Amino acid sequence: MQSNNLLELAGAVSSGAVRVVDLTFTLSPDFPVIVLPPEFGQAAPVRIQEISRYDGRGPAWYWNNVTFGEHTGTHFDAPIHWFTGKNLPNNAVDTMPAKDMIAPACVIDCSAQAAQDPDFLLTVPLVEAWEAKHGRIPERNWVLLRTDWSKKGWRDYSNLRDDGAHTPGPNSAVMKWLVEERGVIGFGTETIGTDAGQAGHFEPPYPAHHFLHGAGRYGLQCLCNLDQLPPTGAVIVASPLKIQNGSGSPLRVIALVAST
Ligand code: MN
Repeated sequence: MQSNNLLELAGAVSSGAVRVVDLTFTLSPDFPVIVLPPEFGQAAPVRIQEISRYDGRGPAWYWNNVTFGEHTGTHFDAPIHWFTGKNLPNNAVDTMPAKDMIAPACVIDCSAQAAQDPDFLLTVPLVEAWEAKHGRIPERNWVLLRTDWSKKGWRDYSNLRDDGAHTPGPNSAVMKWLVEERGVIGFGTETIGTDAGQAGHFEPPYPAHHFLHGAGRYGLQCLCNLDQLPPTGAVIVASPLKIQNGSGSPLRVIALVAST
Protein backbone atom coordinates (compact mmCIF):
# COMPACT_ATOMS: atom_id res chain seq x y z
CA MET A 1 0.00 0.00 0.00
CA GLN A 2 1.34 3.40 -0.93
CA SER A 3 1.56 5.86 1.93
CA ASN A 4 -0.79 8.33 0.24
CA ASN A 5 -3.58 5.71 0.40
CA LEU A 6 -3.51 6.14 4.16
CA LEU A 7 -3.78 9.89 3.81
CA GLU A 8 -6.69 9.37 1.40
CA LEU A 9 -8.37 7.26 4.06
CA ALA A 10 -7.84 9.95 6.70
CA GLY A 11 -9.24 12.55 4.31
CA ALA A 12 -12.26 10.36 3.54
CA VAL A 13 -12.94 9.94 7.26
CA SER A 14 -12.62 13.69 7.76
CA SER A 15 -14.94 14.55 4.85
CA GLY A 16 -17.50 11.90 5.75
CA ALA A 17 -16.93 9.91 2.56
CA VAL A 18 -16.02 7.10 4.93
CA ARG A 19 -18.54 6.81 7.76
CA VAL A 20 -17.32 5.91 11.24
CA VAL A 21 -19.91 3.86 13.12
CA ASP A 22 -19.49 3.41 16.87
CA LEU A 23 -20.41 -0.17 17.80
CA THR A 24 -19.85 0.45 21.52
CA PHE A 25 -22.15 0.78 24.52
CA THR A 26 -21.27 3.37 27.15
CA LEU A 27 -19.41 1.65 30.00
CA SER A 28 -21.61 2.36 33.00
CA PRO A 29 -22.43 0.88 36.44
CA ASP A 30 -25.89 -0.23 35.30
CA PHE A 31 -24.69 -2.20 32.28
CA PRO A 32 -25.71 -5.85 32.86
CA VAL A 33 -22.89 -8.30 33.54
CA ILE A 34 -23.02 -11.98 32.75
CA VAL A 35 -24.46 -14.11 35.58
CA LEU A 36 -22.93 -17.58 36.01
CA PRO A 37 -24.31 -20.44 38.11
CA PRO A 38 -23.72 -19.58 41.79
CA GLU A 39 -20.89 -22.10 42.32
CA PHE A 40 -18.65 -20.07 39.98
CA GLY A 41 -16.82 -16.78 40.43
CA GLN A 42 -18.77 -13.76 39.23
CA ALA A 43 -17.91 -10.63 37.27
CA ALA A 44 -18.39 -7.40 39.23
CA PRO A 45 -20.31 -4.51 37.70
CA VAL A 46 -18.44 -1.38 36.64
CA ARG A 47 -17.63 1.10 39.42
CA ILE A 48 -16.85 4.75 38.70
CA GLN A 49 -15.62 6.66 41.76
CA GLU A 50 -14.94 10.35 41.55
CA ILE A 51 -11.49 11.42 42.73
CA SER A 52 -12.13 15.14 42.37
CA ARG A 53 -14.31 17.52 40.39
CA TYR A 54 -12.95 21.07 40.41
CA ASP A 55 -13.28 21.05 44.20
CA GLY A 56 -11.25 20.75 47.37
CA ARG A 57 -10.02 17.32 46.30
CA GLY A 58 -8.59 18.85 43.13
CA PRO A 59 -9.49 22.45 42.36
CA ALA A 60 -8.83 22.54 38.62
CA TRP A 61 -9.45 18.95 37.53
CA TYR A 62 -12.04 16.20 37.24
CA TRP A 63 -11.14 12.49 37.20
CA ASN A 64 -12.37 9.09 38.35
CA ASN A 65 -11.09 5.76 39.57
CA VAL A 66 -12.75 3.09 37.47
CA THR A 67 -12.90 -0.64 38.19
CA PHE A 68 -14.38 -3.31 35.95
CA GLY A 69 -14.09 -6.97 35.02
CA GLU A 70 -12.29 -7.84 31.82
CA HIS A 71 -15.58 -9.09 30.37
CA THR A 72 -17.79 -6.08 31.03
CA GLY A 73 -19.74 -3.90 28.65
CA THR A 74 -18.78 -3.93 24.98
CA HIS A 75 -15.70 -6.13 25.25
CA PHE A 76 -13.11 -8.29 23.53
CA ASP A 77 -12.34 -11.97 24.26
CA ALA A 78 -8.76 -13.18 23.73
CA PRO A 79 -7.86 -16.86 23.16
CA ILE A 80 -6.49 -17.23 26.71
CA HIS A 81 -10.04 -16.64 28.00
CA TRP A 82 -10.94 -20.27 27.26
CA PHE A 83 -9.20 -23.50 28.23
CA THR A 84 -8.97 -24.49 24.56
CA GLY A 85 -6.71 -21.50 23.89
CA LYS A 86 -4.69 -21.51 27.11
CA ASN A 87 -1.48 -22.91 25.59
CA LEU A 88 -1.46 -20.93 22.35
CA PRO A 89 1.32 -18.40 21.76
CA ASN A 90 0.46 -14.69 22.03
CA ASN A 91 -2.98 -15.56 23.36
CA ALA A 92 -3.59 -12.61 25.71
CA VAL A 93 -4.63 -9.03 24.98
CA ASP A 94 -1.10 -7.73 25.66
CA THR A 95 0.64 -10.24 23.38
CA MET A 96 -1.82 -10.71 20.48
CA PRO A 97 -0.65 -9.26 17.15
CA ALA A 98 -1.70 -5.63 16.78
CA LYS A 99 -2.56 -6.25 13.14
CA ASP A 100 -5.39 -8.55 14.25
CA MET A 101 -7.10 -5.46 15.65
CA ILE A 102 -8.15 -4.27 12.17
CA ALA A 103 -10.17 -6.57 9.90
CA PRO A 104 -13.21 -6.56 7.59
CA ALA A 105 -16.60 -7.79 8.72
CA CYS A 106 -19.45 -9.82 7.29
CA VAL A 107 -22.72 -8.91 9.00
CA ILE A 108 -25.44 -11.55 9.08
CA ASP A 109 -28.85 -10.08 9.81
CA CYS A 110 -30.93 -12.45 11.93
CA SER A 111 -32.92 -9.70 13.65
CA ALA A 112 -36.26 -11.01 12.34
CA GLN A 113 -35.61 -14.53 13.65
CA ALA A 114 -34.32 -13.26 17.01
CA ALA A 115 -37.45 -11.13 17.43
CA GLN A 116 -39.55 -14.28 17.09
CA ASP A 117 -37.36 -16.58 19.20
CA PRO A 118 -34.97 -15.46 21.96
CA ASP A 119 -33.24 -18.86 21.68
CA PHE A 120 -32.66 -18.43 17.93
CA LEU A 121 -29.49 -20.16 16.74
CA LEU A 122 -27.34 -19.33 13.73
CA THR A 123 -26.68 -22.47 11.65
CA VAL A 124 -24.48 -23.48 8.70
CA PRO A 125 -27.44 -23.49 6.25
CA LEU A 126 -28.33 -19.96 7.31
CA VAL A 127 -24.77 -18.75 6.67
CA GLU A 128 -24.72 -20.60 3.35
CA ALA A 129 -27.93 -18.81 2.38
CA TRP A 130 -26.26 -15.50 3.32
CA GLU A 131 -23.24 -16.45 1.19
CA ALA A 132 -25.50 -17.23 -1.79
CA LYS A 133 -26.58 -13.58 -1.68
CA HIS A 134 -23.42 -11.79 -0.56
CA GLY A 135 -20.54 -14.08 -1.54
CA ARG A 136 -18.30 -16.46 0.37
CA ILE A 137 -16.99 -15.18 3.71
CA PRO A 138 -13.32 -14.34 3.06
CA GLU A 139 -10.61 -15.54 5.43
CA ARG A 140 -9.63 -13.35 8.39
CA ASN A 141 -12.99 -11.58 8.43
CA TRP A 142 -15.12 -10.95 11.48
CA VAL A 143 -18.56 -12.49 11.34
CA LEU A 144 -20.98 -10.25 13.24
CA LEU A 145 -24.39 -11.64 14.18
CA ARG A 146 -27.00 -8.90 13.99
CA THR A 147 -30.00 -9.63 16.21
CA ASP A 148 -31.02 -6.08 17.25
CA TRP A 149 -30.65 -7.44 20.81
CA SER A 150 -28.74 -4.25 21.67
CA LYS A 151 -32.00 -2.29 21.33
CA LYS A 152 -33.64 -4.08 24.26
CA GLY A 153 -33.98 -2.65 27.75
CA TRP A 154 -31.58 -4.04 30.34
CA ARG A 155 -33.99 -6.60 31.84
CA ASP A 156 -34.87 -8.12 28.49
CA TYR A 157 -31.23 -7.81 27.43
CA SER A 158 -30.03 -10.44 29.92
CA ASN A 159 -33.39 -12.29 29.62
CA LEU A 160 -32.65 -14.40 32.70
CA ARG A 161 -35.19 -17.06 33.63
CA ASP A 162 -35.14 -19.83 36.22
CA ASP A 163 -33.13 -22.02 33.86
CA GLY A 164 -30.62 -19.35 32.84
CA ALA A 165 -30.34 -16.78 30.06
CA HIS A 166 -32.35 -17.00 26.85
CA THR A 167 -30.52 -15.02 24.19
CA PRO A 168 -29.66 -15.83 20.56
CA GLY A 169 -26.28 -17.05 19.33
CA PRO A 170 -24.53 -19.61 17.14
CA ASN A 171 -24.98 -23.36 17.30
CA SER A 172 -21.99 -25.65 17.69
CA ALA A 173 -21.69 -26.79 14.06
CA VAL A 174 -21.63 -23.25 12.64
CA MET A 175 -18.84 -22.14 14.99
CA LYS A 176 -16.64 -25.11 14.06
CA TRP A 177 -17.40 -24.44 10.39
CA LEU A 178 -16.74 -20.69 10.52
CA VAL A 179 -13.37 -21.31 12.18
CA GLU A 180 -12.24 -24.32 10.16
CA GLU A 181 -13.90 -23.80 6.76
CA ARG A 182 -14.01 -20.00 6.59
CA GLY A 183 -11.01 -19.04 8.71
CA VAL A 184 -12.81 -16.19 10.45
CA ILE A 185 -10.69 -13.91 12.64
CA GLY A 186 -13.51 -13.72 15.15
CA PHE A 187 -17.21 -13.69 15.89
CA GLY A 188 -19.18 -10.81 17.35
CA THR A 189 -22.65 -10.49 18.87
CA GLU A 190 -25.01 -7.89 20.31
CA THR A 191 -25.72 -10.12 23.33
CA ILE A 192 -23.83 -10.49 26.60
CA GLY A 193 -21.65 -13.31 25.24
CA THR A 194 -20.50 -14.70 21.92
CA ASP A 195 -22.47 -17.82 22.79
CA ALA A 196 -26.23 -18.25 23.07
CA GLY A 197 -27.78 -17.92 26.52
CA GLN A 198 -28.38 -21.68 26.75
CA ALA A 199 -25.00 -22.66 25.22
CA GLY A 200 -23.83 -24.28 28.46
CA HIS A 201 -26.04 -27.21 27.42
CA PHE A 202 -24.51 -27.47 23.92
CA GLU A 203 -21.89 -30.00 22.84
CA PRO A 204 -19.23 -28.83 23.36
CA PRO A 205 -20.47 -26.32 25.95
CA TYR A 206 -20.08 -22.69 24.81
CA PRO A 207 -19.04 -23.64 21.26
CA ALA A 208 -18.18 -20.08 20.17
CA HIS A 209 -15.65 -19.80 22.98
CA HIS A 210 -14.50 -23.40 22.47
CA PHE A 211 -13.79 -23.23 18.74
CA LEU A 212 -12.78 -19.57 18.37
CA HIS A 213 -10.28 -19.44 21.19
CA GLY A 214 -8.97 -22.95 20.57
CA ALA A 215 -7.93 -21.72 17.12
CA GLY A 216 -6.47 -18.42 18.36
CA ARG A 217 -9.44 -16.35 17.21
CA TYR A 218 -11.33 -13.62 19.01
CA GLY A 219 -14.73 -12.67 20.32
CA LEU A 220 -16.64 -9.38 20.55
CA GLN A 221 -19.85 -8.97 22.49
CA CYS A 222 -22.33 -6.36 23.62
CA LEU A 223 -21.95 -4.65 20.24
CA CYS A 224 -24.54 -2.12 19.07
CA ASN A 225 -25.41 -0.29 15.85
CA LEU A 226 -24.87 -3.40 13.72
CA ASP A 227 -28.00 -2.26 11.81
CA GLN A 228 -25.88 0.60 10.44
CA LEU A 229 -23.40 -1.75 8.76
CA PRO A 230 -23.60 -3.20 5.24
CA PRO A 231 -23.54 -7.02 4.86
CA THR A 232 -19.96 -6.78 3.57
CA GLY A 233 -17.29 -4.12 3.21
CA ALA A 234 -17.11 -2.58 6.69
CA VAL A 235 -13.71 -2.57 8.39
CA ILE A 236 -13.67 -3.12 12.15
CA VAL A 237 -11.14 -1.53 14.49
CA ALA A 238 -11.12 -3.42 17.80
CA SER A 239 -8.06 -2.85 19.98
CA PRO A 240 -8.42 -4.11 23.56
CA LEU A 241 -6.64 -2.54 26.51
CA LYS A 242 -3.11 -3.87 26.95
CA ILE A 243 -3.74 -5.61 30.27
CA GLN A 244 -0.86 -7.85 31.36
CA ASN A 245 -1.88 -11.44 30.56
CA GLY A 246 -5.42 -10.14 30.15
CA SER A 247 -8.17 -12.48 28.95
CA GLY A 248 -10.15 -9.64 27.42
CA SER A 249 -11.13 -6.05 28.01
CA PRO A 250 -13.78 -3.44 27.49
CA LEU A 251 -12.89 -1.41 24.41
CA ARG A 252 -14.16 1.06 21.86
CA VAL A 253 -15.17 -0.81 18.70
CA ILE A 254 -15.56 1.27 15.56
CA ALA A 255 -16.46 0.37 12.00
CA LEU A 256 -15.32 2.20 8.87
CA VAL A 257 -17.99 2.14 6.18
CA ALA A 258 -17.62 3.48 2.66
CA SER A 259 -20.50 5.73 1.61
CA THR A 260 -22.37 4.35 -1.36
MN1 MN B 1 -16.31 -12.17 27.21
